[in-house]
Amino acid sequence: PHVARLIAAGEVVSRPLDVVRELVDNALDAGASRIEIEVEGGGLALIRVRDNGGGIPAESVALAPARHATSKLAPEAGAVERVTTLGFRGEALWAAAQAGDLHLVTRPAAQVGAVEVTALGDDVTVRRTSAPAGTTVTVRRLFARLPARLRTQAPAAAEVRDITALVGRYVLHHPGLHWRLTVDGEARLTHAPADHRGAVASVYGPLSANRVLTVEADGVRGVVSRPELTRARRDRMHFSVNGRPVLAPPELERAVIEGFAELLPSGVAPLCVLDLTVAPEDHNPNVHPAKQIVALADLPGVAARVQAAVTGALVAHPL
Ligand code: ADP
Ligand code: MG
Repeated sequence: PHVARLIAAGEVVSRPLDVVRELVDNALDAGASRIEIEVEGGGLALIRVRDNGGGIPAESVALAPARHATSKLAPEAGAVERVTTLGFRGEALWAAAQAGDLHLVTRPAAQVGAVEVTALGDDVTVRRTSAPAGTTVTVRRLFARLPARLRTQAPAAAEVRDITALVGRYVLHHPGLHWRLTVDGEARLTHAPADHRGAVASVYGPLSANRVLTVEADGVRGVVSRPELTRARRDRMHFSVNGRPVLAPPELERAVIEGFAELLPSGVAPLCVLDLTVAPEDHNPNVHPAKQIVALADLPGVAARVQAAVTGALVAHPL
């Protein structure tokens, strides 16, 4: 059972990036307006995510690192189909505590004291402490108890590059928040509340930000780069579905490119950040533990909306 548990935890957390994603998802679910991420040693030494969100009430905090402990699913049947939060499985803190040393300090704004939780595997200690409102989760020594997993990790520089790109995607899709990513003590990415264009400036620089135009259609919001300045950078096409950054299905990338129609030379792709809203029952984030792949019930319909929205933005802002 011990081995089975570690294998299951490894499906949720197979690399430092997974921990960052799960902790940031929790901060977003908690309604934070400020999210700060620290990474040391490529995330294997330390990952810390600090938020000013709703916190965890003292009476339920000891349960948070327990497996399947989630406050986000109503018990009635069908709840998972209508979930609007990023998390819902109650496995992330549990997996982080299996895979590393988990430390959590949390305080809801209305609660007088804070609570501190230290979890090593299933060993959980809870103490009262004081802290600002919100939650700080720290994971140290990731995979130190799992030497086989540790051996297969990418070099720290590669992991940091991917974590930076991940945080960049969060900034692009949640531009209204304060963000900060610190790597080995140095600020890597900072962002103050702005619109999508401001987020493009924070992530790709002011030159890129000057080249985007706003897309504002029903259920499709964001920016695309002006067609005359597009480059073949498919890694700069970003989509979220109901607030979750997703790996875009090729159909959606194609929809953006087709939205440009003949304005786009063939073989190039624009930079885009598009936030899609679909009815909760029309999408299933439950396809993969990392939840980055979504199944859209009506992908052709969504693609058509995206294409029309991009074309509409080009028509509204003629060259
Ligand atoms: P899930 O997000 O699937 O519910 P997690 O293991 O990620 O499961 O978190 C377990 C529970 O701990 C959450 O349901 C939530 O109640 C609480 N929690 C975790 N992180 C935070 C946070 N940053 N702020 C507030 N509550 C949190
Ligand atoms: Mg979660």
